[in-house]
Amino acid sequence: MVVELISVGTEILLGNIVNTNAAYLAEQVAALGLSCYYQSVIGDNEARLCEGIRTALSRSDIVILSGGLGPTQDDLTKECAAKVLGKELIMDAHSKEMIEAFFAKRDKKPTENNWKQAMVPKECIVLDNPNGTAPGIIMEENGKTVILLPGPPNELIPMFETSVMPHLAQKTDGVIVSKTVKICGMGESSVETMIEDMLERQVNPTIAPYAKTGEVHLRVTAKAVDDKTAKKLLKPVVKELKSRFETNVYTTEDATTLEQAVVDLLLDRKLTVSTVESCTGGMLAARLINVAGVSEVFKMGHITYSNKAKRKILGVKRSTLDKYTAVSAEVAHDMAKGLSSISKADVAVSVTGLAGPDGGTKETPVGTVFIGCSVNGNVTVQRYQFSGNRAKIRESAVAAALTLMRSCILADYSLTFRN
Ligand code: ATP
Ligand code: MG
Repeated sequence: MVVELISVGTEILLGNIVNTNAAYLAEQVAALGLSCYYQSVIGDNEARLCEGIRTALSRSDIVILSGGLGPTQDDLTKECAAKVLGKELIMDAHSKEMIEAFFAKRDKKPTENNWKQAMVPKECIVLDNPNGTAPGIIMEENGKTVILLPGPPNELIPMFETSVMPHLAQKTDGVIVSKTVKICGMGESSVETMIEDMLERQVNPTIAPYAKTGEVHLRVTAKAVDDKTAKKLLKPVVKELKSRFETNVYTTEDATTLEQAVVDLLLDRKLTVSTVESCTGGMLAARLINVAGVSEVFKMGHITYSNKAKRKILGVKRSTLDKYTAVSAEVAHDMAKGLSSISKADVAVSVTGLAGPDGGTKETPVGTVFIGCSVNGNVTVQRYQFSGNRAKIRESAVAAALTLMRSCILADYSLTFRN
């Protein structure tokens, strides 16, 4: 089966937005064992869009379009796809209800043009969109499949995973089962180097590395006649990956995030935690507090942005700040120590760094971050050098802080036996 991707939107064509949907869909399609030979971007233009769909259908079995399902005049994807397949658009009562519910939940009223989104081609499969108003659509005609997905990634990704993936899996022979080995504390190239031999000889299961901020996910996908056989194929490969990456593997569960794994570890060891942040401005605390049930372990989170706050709240000495500057191992150390003493938490984490874009020096360039982690009074400090813009550096610092917390707790063997 050959899949073709069409990303719809003049914004993409002009380079105003990055086509992350195509990257995501291409990776998913490959992981499903389907081939993709063509991808294109087409602006919000009826004639060119119809022509693009026609061309794609002439050379591929499944055409996936993303974007242009919105309520406005320039959203034309559904109309064009229906036209090319010769299907009439009809009102779908279920989608209308879903749109009503979407607005009611947000205490808002739909506008007249929202009902355009409840119009669907005759005899299609309608995919619910719990995160937006445009339903997705799957059309089958003469052995060809056309799939329409909304443009916003927070709508497209969940819809793809819950509705499209199972549909595509049916089209491949047998079943496709995958498991993700999630690794923290290592970069993508180190991870790939460590499994070069496995990547080279992969056939079934396949191993697809995905680089995330501060993490690498290895998606292992097996194809087999049934679920049981696929799982049997996955098992030794996942086991091998776990043994190669040891404690860097924080989970093999799709739903488990790094912060969830850290909170689970704290719960398991009956440890409390506090955070103090400078350049990340509360992002570390926010990620931990995203986890339901964190109240059992999270004590307090401070943002000590100024030197004065570091002195007054954490007791960092003025002389230390003067001598080493706020972005230094010494200050990260004293912040963690000070936090440990005021919060009485078992684990106290500090983050201080330079997210830029200004203020870098030769010794402390932009992207320098120090993270301190005190576990039962033993403080570990790590220096990091991150790249990217301010947002990326801050995000990387948060992932590194979670990773450092995790490894400090795991390294503190004495804790394993606490009650
Ligand atoms: P809406 O109902 O929001 O109009 P839509 O399905 O019509 O959704 P578009 O109007 O094409 O989708 O795009 C809406 C937004 O979704 C864009 O502004 C952009 O932020 C995001 N988006 C669209 N296409 C892509 C893409 N290929 N990659 C990444 N983001 C995208
Ligand atoms: Mg739109």
